[in-house]
Amino acid sequence: MKLGALGEFGLIDSIRARVGVAPGVHRGIGDDAAELEIPAGHRLLTSTDLLLEEVHFRFAWTSAYDLGRKAVAVNLSDIAAMGGEPRFVYVGLACPAATEVSQLEAFVNGVLAETAEHGVTLVGGDTCRSPGPWVISVTVEGTAPVGTAVGRDGASPGDLVLVSGTLGDSALALSLWQQGENPDSWLAARHNRPSPRIALGRELALTGLATAMIDLSDGVASDLEHILQASGVGAEILGPALPLSLAFRSHLERQPGLIDLALGGGEDYELLCTVPAARLDEALSAGGRIGVPLTMIGTVKERAAGFRLRDAAGEVRPLRVRGYDHFCR
Ligand code: ADP
Ligand code: MG
Repeated sequence: MKLGALGEFGLIDSIRARVGVAPGVHRGIGDDAAELEIPAGHRLLTSTDLLLEEVHFRFAWTSAYDLGRKAVAVNLSDIAAMGGEPRFVYVGLACPAATEVSQLEAFVNGVLAETAEHGVTLVGGDTCRSPGPWVISVTVEGTAPVGTAVGRDGASPGDLVLVSGTLGDSALALSLWQQGENPDSWLAARHNRPSPRIALGRELALTGLATAMIDLSDGVASDLEHILQASGVGAEILGPALPLSLAFRSHLERQPGLIDLALGGGEDYELLCTVPAARLDEALSAGGRIGVPLTMIGTVKERAAGFRLRDAAGEVRPLRVRGYDHFCR
């Protein structure tokens, strides 16, 4: 069956029927607006991301199920980067009337699997016909106790720069697809099934360990630059310290130029944070406790030091920032 036959309200009803009651949700899908409760002493954190077919994803390289999961996951990652607890999600969806209902069901299955995994509730959205590509707009709302959310503006000279997980896997998978090759299933999952680092972000925030934090959507070079700008500081990154997966290393052996993907590749959805040097061990053990390793990759400097990279030979050069900009190509 095509979406054209099920209709907008048929689709919304089928989604609504699958979302159960949840704490804090007085009204969810089905009214003009969701009516929600925020715990006393908390603040609301809100974030939105757009995913556009052919810009952010291609059905040749991802399933509709994974797309549903990822559309939610990348938003949860933004709440994680503030140290908050994600709670409510809204999904705006535009797709062609000729879309197979089974493909939409797979997408909704992905959305609901990701929300269920993280204890988040789908409380609304909007649905309309697209004359061409799919457009997905997800909004997430989270909460954090007053005064605990971590911004991009708190890094000071002397802080250390830490990153979770490994870098460049997602960009490597994408570059293999773009060259007509198939990444192995682990690499493909690093691109199509990012894991929002929610527990780690909350721990780093609630303990006051992170002085600044951001999630990696555009690569360390670009995303750390956002922290440096907001905090009015510089930084030195240690090239040999960048955490790389076994899969990434095996490709790197054959193609040394791939190291650029570890610094400038997008969509890792790992957390990048700064931590006072005296609290390094505490931060590393928090990562260990949560099961998401943190690696120290550099030091925050005075603004005048700029943003630079120290390589294995000890040579230092300015880091050129080449994150993805939708309008400057
Ligand atoms: P309105 O005309 O007021 O925008 P809609 O008819 O678009 O209302 O939506 C009806 C209800 O269904 C609303 O509660 C809305 O939040 C929800 N909704 C619409 N599309 C989606 C979607 N894709 N996912 C989840 N909820 C949705
Ligand atoms: Mg509407």
